[in-house]
Parts: sequence; structure tokens; C-alpha cells
Amino acid sequence: MQAQLRRTKIIATLGPATDAPGALKRLLAEGVDVVRLNLSHGTHEDHRARADAVRAAAAELGNEVGVLADLQGPKIRVERFAAGPVHLDPGQDFLLDCRIDAPPGDASRVGVSYHDLWRDVRPGDVLLLDDGLISLEVIDVLEQAVRCRVLAGGRLSDRKGINRLGGGLTVAALSDKDRADIRLAASIGADFLAVSFVKTADDVEQARALLREAGGDAALVAKIERAEAIENLSAIVEVSDAVMVARGDLGVEIGDAELPGLQKKIIREALLHKRVVITATQMMQSMVESPIPTRAEVLDVANAVIDGTDAVMLSQETAAGRHPDKAVAAMRRVCLGAERQFEPKEDLSPGTHGLDRTDQAIALAAMFLANQIGVRALIALTESGGTAQWLSRYRSTVPIYALSRNPAARRRMLLYRDVHPVEFDARGVGPTQAAREAVLHLFRLGHLAVDDRVILTTGDHTGQLGGTNTLKLLKVGESGVAEGLGDL
Ligand code: PGA
Ligand code: MN
Repeated sequence: MQAQLRRTKIIATLGPATDAPGALKRLLAEGVDVVRLNLSHGTHEDHRARADAVRAAAAELGNEVGVLADLQGPKIRVERFAAGPVHLDPGQDFLLDCRIDAPPGDASRVGVSYHDLWRDVRPGDVLLLDDGLISLEVIDVLEQAVRCRVLAGGRLSDRKGINRLGGGLTVAALSDKDRADIRLAASIGADFLAVSFVKTADDVEQARALLREAGGDAALVAKIERAEAIENLSAIVEVSDAVMVARGDLGVEIGDAELPGLQKKIIREALLHKRVVITATQMMQSMVESPIPTRAEVLDVANAVIDGTDAVMLSQETAAGRHPDKAVAAMRRVCLGAERQFEPKEDLSPGTHGLDRTDQAIALAAMFLANQIGVRALIALTESGGTAQWLSRYRSTVPIYALSRNPAARRRMLLYRDVHPVEFDARGVGPTQAAREAVLHLFRLGHLAVDDRVILTTGDHTGQLGGTNTLKLLKVGESGVAEGLGDL
């Protein structure tokens, strides 16, 4: 009996806690598929060094790992305080100074990074600081300043974020820092680029254009964390390769009670559009300190898996936590449990799924057949990973082995639920021979056994982009399939 394969993918954020000697290797060994470089913190040199180190650690383990560069985006923040953190009391006045040359703050006032804030707010608006820990009500809008009353007080330190309850603070999607960071992402060969605080489809298109201009070929991830993004959700999903349920900022803008419904809606929308979806933030927050997750966190991760997410993400837990590798291990364990206990049921009738493209039609047919007759695995001979992506959009329990010679395509497939990318070069042999060799290769790797039934998808010309037009139903070891098994 083979060990249960994990279907849901794990993203871990790198940071000071993963910089310690040996930490990266331990982290990857627990089962990280993609690492996140959080460009809100650290220098370009830090990120470049981490990308190099993680690739070296993966190579030592004989694994492949994807790199996701996550832009800071136009997050609005308070500026610095003159003498360290201040304490705000409920009922007191507090002034947000919008001038470019605002002096360092104190307990009565502080500068803000968004100098047009005063044009965007009205009396009665509620502003949330530090992910909602502190709330302010706007009392009066002055020339280049906003006078507020503290509703919920607390300790406020340098550079904490500001959101408006209900969203709608209009700030350009990509800051100058983001533009520089996009060039960094291209130069370190990031596999994914996450765009923060997306409001419209155009924000994603702009980031993609800048990335391509800089020579990057990363897939684009739209972070859904603003109220406006919910209004434009299907247009944003359509132009993105993946979306992230960015629950941290989303919960602040929309209110935490809306999060469960929105998470399900965003995941559904992504799968409907055949896009990849990541569920992120505070999934195992208590593990920043604790070596085990709370029961509520276990249920949260499991519920995201049941909702159908492709990937779950760790942020602080791995970047700055005390137990980065234990957090990954806990996530892996909980994903496996949820996958074992809940079998996805998908309606595969053609009426509910588009069949416009040949590879899409082959994928649906393959998945339909796999569910009807029961097969050990789906095997996709794929150049770009396109067929594997189509296959993985249908939630099932059948593992998908995606065989590709293209390392960038394999790394991109690391985020697709159910997909296990495998290095394999099918060029130079005909489709029949390529199918035999593919099955033999997976047999030798221990993924298949004699008499297993498998479905294989391929094209007439193996090694060509988007050419999948064939579905084969094969039995391992039968005449002509994986010939040479006897010699092993
Ligand atoms: P962040 O994004 O961690 O970059 O803020 C994720 C979120 O807001 O949930
Ligand atoms: Mn965010």
C-alpha cells in the first residue's frame, strides 16, 4: 500500500525564522510546494539570497520548489513616531496628518503614507489601524488632515496599516516600490507574482505587462483583499492565473463576519473560471508561539480543503514563528486528514463545463472516465502544463501525474491541487512509444503497480505546446504498455 499522496498544496512564507542554518531544508522536507517572498519586508538582497538558498536546499533534497514573489501593493500606512509606540485611549482625538513633510508622530497626531487620504474620507467613516486592532471615527476633514476620535484604543507603532471599513480608499494599484519589485521578481526568476490590493482586472493586466517587459514569465496571482475586488471578482479572476483569498486585509475591509461566505464564493468563482486558488493568512496563527495548532485552526485548514482550495498558505507562522517546520507538518497532517475524510463530488456533465478547447474537452472526458471506471492515476504528457491545469480543475480523488521536460512549467504546476509534476522528456519518440515510456517511468518511481489502470492524455506530436488531443486507457504491464517490467 502506497502512502497517501497529499492533494492540497502548501505555501510557506520565508523570513528571519527560516534564515537559520538548516531551517530551509527542514521546512522543505516537511512538504512545502511553493515558498513566498513577502516584498513588504526586507531588501532586494535578502530576497535574492532567500530565493538562491531555497533552490539550493530543494536541489539537495532532490525536490522542485516554486517561488512566489508577493508585492507590497499600495497599502496605506501611518508614518513613524518620534519616540517609539504610542498609546491611544478611547474617546481621545487623533489627527492623521496628510502633508508630505508631516513631522514624526506622537500620541495626538501622526503622518500617513497616502497624502490624498483627506480627499477620500468623510465624517462618520471608520478607519481601522493595525489590522483592526485600533479603530478611529472620522470627525472632521481639514485641508491635508483628518481629525478622528478613537473608538477602540491600544498601542500604535510605526508603519502600521490603515484600512477603511467598507473599503474604497482610492490609491493607485502599483506603487514605485512595486514597479522596482516587479523587476526584482523577473530577475530572480519567480514562478508566481502576487499583486496586492487589486481593485480591477486592469490592475492585474498592468502588473503582467510590467513583468513581461522586465523579462519575467511568472504566473499572476490576484490577491482579493479589497471591497472593490469583490465587486469586480469575475473580471479579476478571468485575467489572473490564480487568486488568493487574502483574509488578513479582506477581513479588515469587509468585516470578519463576511469572511466565511467570501472565502467560499472566491474559491467557487476561481474553479468556475478554471483558475487556481490559494487560501491565506492566520491559518495556524497560534503556531507563531505554540508547537501545536488550536482545534479551531485545524478546522479552518480542513474547511479550506473541503471548500476546494488548491493551496493553503502560512505567513507569520513560518516567516517569524518559533516552529516553522512544525507549522508545515501540522498543515500537511490536517490536509491529508481532510482529503481522506471528504471525497469531492463533482458534477462532470458537459452542460456545467465549457468544452471550447480541445485540451479542455480531453481533460473533461478523462476525468469523467476516471470517475466512472476507477483508475489508479491520470497521466498528462504536457509541455506547458495546460492539460494538467484543466484536469486539476475538476475536484476528484485521482492523482494527476504531469510529465513535462520544462522545469518552469513543472514549478508552476506545483500549485495545482492533485497534480504531481514529474520530469520527463517525450521528444523524439512517437506518441505510442512516449506513452509506454511514461508509464514505465512512473512504475519505476514507485507510483504505479502491475495491473493498475491509468488514463493518459497526449498529443499527436509530443513536446508541442497545447497539442493534447488524445486519451488512452492503459493497464500497467499489459502487452505493449510499460514493456520491460519483467526485467526490473
Ligand atoms: P499580506 O496579504 O500578508 O501581504 O497582507 C495577505 C492578507 O492580507 O491576507
Ligand atoms: Mn494583505
